[in-house]
Amino acid sequence: MLEFGEVKNVEKSSSLTQETKEYYMQLALAEAKKAQAIGEVPIGAIVVLDGKVIGAGHNLREHDQDATAHAEMFAIRQACQNIESWRLERSQLFVTLEPCPMCSGAMQLARVEEVYFGAYDPKGGAAGSLMEILTDERFNHWSYVEGGILSTACGQLLTDFFRELRKKRKAAKKSPNPL
Ligand code: ZN
Repeated sequence: MLEFGEVKNVEKSSSLTQETKEYYMQLALAEAKKAQAIGEVPIGAIVVLDGKVIGAGHNLREHDQDATAHAEMFAIRQACQNIESWRLERSQLFVTLEPCPMCSGAMQLARVEEVYFGAYDPKGGAAGSLMEILTDERFNHWSYVEGGILSTACGQLLTDFFRELRKKRKAAKKSPNPL
């Protein structure tokens, strides 16, 4: 298991400064806020190549009624379309929450070079919490993975969202049936 801030893969290293990592995570956070604004669980992701954002996305599971409508999937798809290649070698992906097995798998297939996430997801994370898809050297591609980038801001967004949701549900229960 990866400890907070620990990097498992010693052969790979980050190509970015802490300041740059936080800058890009802010952009992923801005994506997450787009999800929040439409009542979706606030998770956002971006893909960066050569200092340019080539893909962005946010969670749309409810709107699309699609279990696979995760932020990372949209960001990866857009990035591939942008550079007209399924290979995202040399790219960096930033996501506000630790990726799930599906998204980690997609990143692995797309050969994303570096993956940075914000908050840890102890119940669904596949980048260190429950499993380590991206750094498993049995695969033919593995990535540099770093968690905990702006983790407080990323986690707070989720905590606030679920607190609001509970409040709304409680209020709806309390109010008399209008029908
Ligand atoms: Zn996912």
